[in-house]
Amino acid sequence: MTELLNRWRILRHELDAQHVKLLAVSKYATQADVALLADAGQRDFAESRPQQLRDRAERFPHVNWHMVGPLQRNKAKYVGRHAFMWHSVEDVETAKSVAAHVHGRRLSVMLQVNVGGSARQHGVTMEQAPAVFERLMNIPALRVRGLMCMAPGGSDTRACFRDLCHLRDRLTGESLRPLPDTFPRHAGKLELCMGMSGDYRIAVEEGSNMVRLGTILFG
Ligand SMILES: *Cc1c(COP(=O)(O)O)cnc(C)c1O
Repeated sequence: MTELLNRWRILRHELDAQHVKLLAVSKYATQADVALLADAGQRDFAESRPQQLRDRAERFPHVNWHMVGPLQRNKAKYVGRHAFMWHSVEDVETAKSVAAHVHGRRLSVMLQVNVGGSARQHGVTMEQAPAVFERLMNIPALRVRGLMCMAPGGSDTRACFRDLCHLRDRLTGESLRPLPDTFPRHAGKLELCMGMSGDYRIAVEEGSNMVRLGTILFG
């Protein structure tokens, strides 16, 4: 228990200093460990399975629950009702299904991009991303906040994070190779959710402002 709190304090200290938000990925963590961190002041938790997200959002309603895993349309209601933020959007139809279950608010979402184009990974391709992003911005119940990716591992990790950062700059109109003038530019700076236990420091160096940490935090 105290070891968990120690790890959390050290990680928070490191990430707070760089203005990076820590999402505690609790998919393999016990209820007791979630309670311990929530009591200590951790505000943001993430789950990769929609039912577990629902269960824990009901059990711990005073903290924010982020959805980070792949989603089937028949589970859309759990995310629409219970997620504080949905990071793993990868198609417009599922996004519309989730939007139909969002009531009395706008749900913040991130578009997941399969930067390396690996068949084993989720997300839209780099080429599809601008068009999907634009269509998501037209769904009134959603608020598109930025981009998320998972690095393929190995030596491509830094390049993957860098590519997502460049795509973000294109979408915000800050790139040297901007999108056409007709593209509805995002008003503010878009967020970047990238980095997990094994690569979060590289992600932060490349501009991430939200990291998703499971193993390194909960053990
Ligand atoms: C499990 C998971 C994480 C956390 O992975 P760790 O390597 O344990 O930090 C991050 N993002 C997603 C999408 C996950 O499913």
